[in-house]
Amino acid sequence: MIMPEDLKSLQREFSGAKPRELLEHFMKIHGSRIALASSLGAEDQALTHMMLGIDPGAVIFFIDTGRLHQETYDTAAKTMKRYGMRYQVFFPDNKRVEEMTGAHGPNLFYESVALRETCCQVRKVEPLERALSNMDAWVTGLRREQSPARAGLEVIEWDPARKMVKLNPLASWSNEELWSYIREHAVPYNSLHDRNFPSIGCAPCTRAIGEGEDTRAGRWWWEDSGEKECGLHVKSQETDDRGGSI
Ligand code: SF4
Repeated sequence: MIMPEDLKSLQREFSGAKPRELLEHFMKIHGSRIALASSLGAEDQALTHMMLGIDPGAVIFFIDTGRLHQETYDTAAKTMKRYGMRYQVFFPDNKRVEEMTGAHGPNLFYESVALRETCCQVRKVEPLERALSNMDAWVTGLRREQSPARAGLEVIEWDPARKMVKLNPLASWSNEELWSYIREHAVPYNSLHDRNFPSIGCAPCTRAIGEGEDTRAGRWWWEDSGEKECGLHVKSQETDDRGGSI
């Protein structure tokens, strides 16, 4: 099992590696204990294509928050058909959803940042913790270009909250590289991307963006700008006592 102190040398070793090379290496080490947490967005669709090309039984899951767009479910369905694969699907705890909705209403996320974070915690973060509870490593589609908050992203990171390796194989990819990969391999993708939704989350919390807007401007658009994260991606420590960026 990879430990935080291994990170620096791994980061050096894989600094120029292609996403597929990185995935091959870690999928060989971890087998069924490494999973792609898919949002069914473009980046995760590219990673789905790569991982299933390496291992048709690769573990890929998505979290069904109960508030996704129909187009996102359609993406899951067409991906299953194209690759003959099955997702692991994780739902929020129904008791917690009942209590939250009963106390604050179905649209609580518009009321305050605190209630929006509560909703993300119940519908996304807790199911993610369950999904990762039997894993040693996870894979995400984060890219540096997506937002200023992600500019310092490493390809290999230590997830301090889950105490496991987190791979961001597409960290250095530009939007152009991503879409040329999708077109070249005819990867199925969410049709909302063709309607100016570069980043897709839950339906009530995502809108199309306008000309010149940041790619994540359509997420929780009613909130003031800021880091706009939902708690899935806990920042690594800048440095530890070994000087590592973990
Ligand atoms: S994105 Fe919106 S609907 Fe989805 S979990 Fe977060 S607050 Fe709730």
